[in-house]
Amino acid sequence: MTEWILSTENLSRSFGGLAAVDQVSFQVKKDEVFGIVGPNGAGKSTLFNLIAGVLPPSHGKIEAFGHRIDRMPTQKRCWLGIGRTFQAAQMFPTHTIGESLLSAGSAKHRGVAGWLRPVDLKSDRQEMLEFLDFIGLAGMEDLLPSELTNLQQQKLAIGMALITDPQLLLLDEPSGGLIEAEVLELLAFIKSIRVRGITIVVIDHKMRLMMNLSDRIMVMSAGKMIALDVPKKIASDVNVQNAYLGRPAGSD
Ligand code: ADP
Ligand code: MG
Repeated sequence: MTEWILSTENLSRSFGGLAAVDQVSFQVKKDEVFGIVGPNGAGKSTLFNLIAGVLPPSHGKIEAFGHRIDRMPTQKRCWLGIGRTFQAAQMFPTHTIGESLLSAGSAKHRGVAGWLRPVDLKSDRQEMLEFLDFIGLAGMEDLLPSELTNLQQQKLAIGMALITDPQLLLLDEPSGGLIEAEVLELLAFIKSIRVRGITIVVIDHKMRLMMNLSDRIMVMSAGKMIALDVPKKIASDVNVQNAYLGRPAGSD
């Protein structure tokens, strides 16, 4: 029996007269990497905002881990196990890397269980150091994000999502601003997250990255899902080729 951990049904969100996400239905299986591609403005980031609870849907339904979540506050979705990064890594410029990880990690300790939990600075610091090591920034906790390379910043942004202990991780354009060699390292890094038993939904423009990383790929165009299949089939799908007509896939 397939285990679905995320499911949307006719999910829609309009801004004024514009249907940014239009009747999108899909299901994500436990432990898969589910890729989302599509031209700029296709509605990919809006879809993430609906899943993470940044925006309410206009219509439709979202379920995660057996719960209806589309009206649930963002914080509760985080406790349920949904972690996300933002398209342009949003970090506090004046927080050191260590402080950024610590404050991101504290998000999972709020709520009733969090209030009752004794403050344990030593174990929080220990956890922060372990994550620092996992994201390849060991010994760099006192640096500012501006002192990192683009790849290191992306890894920090992902580390800040991982430290909330998600079962489902949403990554929005993790290859943004990276050069080709860095994209390869990012690919290996995301694969190492997957090995930890975390299901990943990833949006990215870089087709080669997505083809290599994803078990299945959903293609969006003008708010709609136009294809959902394994990477090989997506590459030869006529609807997909038409959606990218005039500009080759992965060019933006
Ligand atoms: P993608 O991430 O695929 O590039 P987005 O989800 O960011 O696409 O945007 C989809 C469409 O919705 C675009 O036309 C965008 O201008 C519009 N849009 C996104 N967010 C908002 C918002 N908060 N208010 C108004 N329009 C928005
Ligand atoms: Mg986007």
